[in-house]
Amino acid sequence: MSLKEKWNRRSFLETLAVIAGVALAPAKLFSLNRSAGTSVTGFGQSGNPYEELGVTTVINGEGTMTMLGGSVLRPELEAVMAQAGRHFVSIPDLEVAAGKRIAEMLKLPDGYTALVTSGAAAAIQSGLAGILTGDNETFIKQLPDLTGMKSEVIIQKSHRNPFDHQLRSTGVKLIEIESRDDLHKAVGPRTAMMHFTNFANAAGQIKVDEWPKLAKQYNVPCFNDAAADTPPVSHLWEYTKIGYDLVAFSGGKAIRGPQCAGLLIGRTDLVANALLNNSPHEDTLGRSQKVGKEEIVGMVKALELYLNEDHDALAKQWQDQLEGISRQITHVTGVSTSFFVPDIANHVPHMQITWDSSRISFTPQEASKLLRSSRPSIVIGTGEDRRGLVVNSFMLQPGEDKIVAQQLVKLFREHSA
Ligand SMILES: *Cc1c(COP(=O)(O)O)cnc(C)c1O
Repeated sequence: MSLKEKWNRRSFLETLAVIAGVALAPAKLFSLNRSAGTSVTGFGQSGNPYEELGVTTVINGEGTMTMLGGSVLRPELEAVMAQAGRHFVSIPDLEVAAGKRIAEMLKLPDGYTALVTSGAAAAIQSGLAGILTGDNETFIKQLPDLTGMKSEVIIQKSHRNPFDHQLRSTGVKLIEIESRDDLHKAVGPRTAMMHFTNFANAAGQIKVDEWPKLAKQYNVPCFNDAAADTPPVSHLWEYTKIGYDLVAFSGGKAIRGPQCAGLLIGRTDLVANALLNNSPHEDTLGRSQKVGKEEIVGMVKALELYLNEDHDALAKQWQDQLEGISRQITHVTGVSTSFFVPDIANHVPHMQITWDSSRISFTPQEASKLLRSSRPSIVIGTGEDRRGLVVNSFMLQPGEDKIVAQQLVKLFREHSA
């Protein structure tokens, strides 16, 4: 949370206090802080429902992991979601109107819109479902039985990943290719879509800008799964501009929207057909991916807030936090740090922490485990393809960088020879 947001939160609370006509003691402020203006008794009264359930909350040095709850909501977004929860509304009408507003905010060209889904995974499934069924009601009810429809999606072999389960859930077969020549041979009357996994760009022979060109040439719709690929914020409109018919983003990662929200951005006809395959429509594949009025409205607000953010200042703040941690921990003999920003997916400052194993006697895996079991519990992962521990700071809350530094110093000293 930035200072500005903390201030907003404070003024929000002060406004509440004025409305309530009471002078708030700090303890009262704390509970209000957690309950958006209603005092809570029973479950939730401590302000931390997780700890009341016996589930430990963690300091997140690993980023926007769905496994850890993604991201945290900005207070202003919480307020707008609460407003959304107080009314009834036609969900299909709301979806179309929200999509239109999002398209305006992103300055998408004519003929493009957006759909708020329950996540990027849902955007992948319903985007493809819409391509397969069009607006044919029989086909929509029939999925994942593809009788009468196209039945194949082409993907580069190096782009296969756990989220292509959402493609397979429609009943299609994934056709793996590697070269342009493979692609040429694979395209045929059964080809429904060409799928691109944005984070795998470097791994495939065909890159992000060529994929939509080839798709146009073969007259096949193409999709980009860019779920975790903001920042930079420009990715929200760039991929449609270079020819992707549909693009998926997570709402609850760096955009910090509702955790159960995502965006399908693309051609209006395809987005409309995706909605037909999605909740609230019954007897559809996507009925299990319900997105609520609160999430739909929340996603619009989250995008507005995200687009207005000073992204350079944020990146600097994240880097400064890591450098602060680095200054503390490199006082311990044998500990070193280095910094990097992944090109794609979680394009934010990261810090790698390594140590001289002749001086410090635990492995990165052991260090990670000890941090997790310490109090407060801290999640810092080991690098997938890097040695040591890897921290990113973009989901650290104010002050938590200090706690992380202290805990790391303590652990390193305890394990120093
Ligand atoms: C996180 C992620 C998804 C799923 O996004 P949700 O919004 O959690 O549904 C899909 N694809 C990739 C590459 C992701 O990183």
